[in-house]
Amino acid sequence: MAGTKCIITGVPGVGKTTVITEALKRLEAAGNPYAYLSFGSFMFELAEKQGLVKNRDEMRLLSKDDQRRLQQQAAEEIARIDGDVIIDTHASVKTPKGYLAGLPEWVLDALEPDLFVLVETDEDQILGRRFGDLSRVRDLDTYGALQSHQSFNRAIAAAYAMKTGCTVAIVTNADHLVDLAIDQIVGLLT
Ligand code: AMP
Ligand code: MG
Repeated sequence: MAGTKCIITGVPGVGKTTVITEALKRLEAAGNPYAYLSFGSFMFELAEKQGLVKNRDEMRLLSKDDQRRLQQQAAEEIARIDGDVIIDTHASVKTPKGYLAGLPEWVLDALEPDLFVLVETDEDQILGRRFGDLSRVRDLDTYGALQSHQSFNRAIAAAYAMKTGCTVAIVTNADHLVDLAIDQIVGLLT
């Protein structure tokens, strides 16, 4: 049985991992457990072994070819995992050379997603969250740059829907309303 493959994305700092972690707890408590797979962690493990980076925030600065190779290797590993899974990843990655598709054709072919989720919120809230997160090396984007990234992500999500037939859901993770975002994700996976 193939199971449900749900891909959850959002620009860095939108609170994607937080929302997913809580949604997973609720799904498990309801007898509907999903496995959590962090695409970035699969890539980082490979990149570290290959001596390319020391932390996960250095990966988006690697050459396009290195990033695409790691991405493909990670996708192949993830594709082997059966059952109901949530894949925490990025619709696009902001690199010094422009946006890199998080799920180019060969990654989509490997993953065969059923559902694609975009977690979004207002740009000023994302900027605030990035400043508060000392555990990561977050980009210091402007409001406009973030707006551009979020709108690019919607555009590329439409392409992913066209290519795979997956549905695309947009979930807002607004300040003080994180429970609403979690409820929505649980609803999508129930
Ligand atoms: P995260 O922990 O989700 O922020 O991911 C860490 C890093 O992994 C990102 O900044 C990217 O460099 C890389 N990454 C995650 N998902 C993808 C993907 N689908 N394609 C390319 N790079 C990715
Ligand atoms: Mg995260």
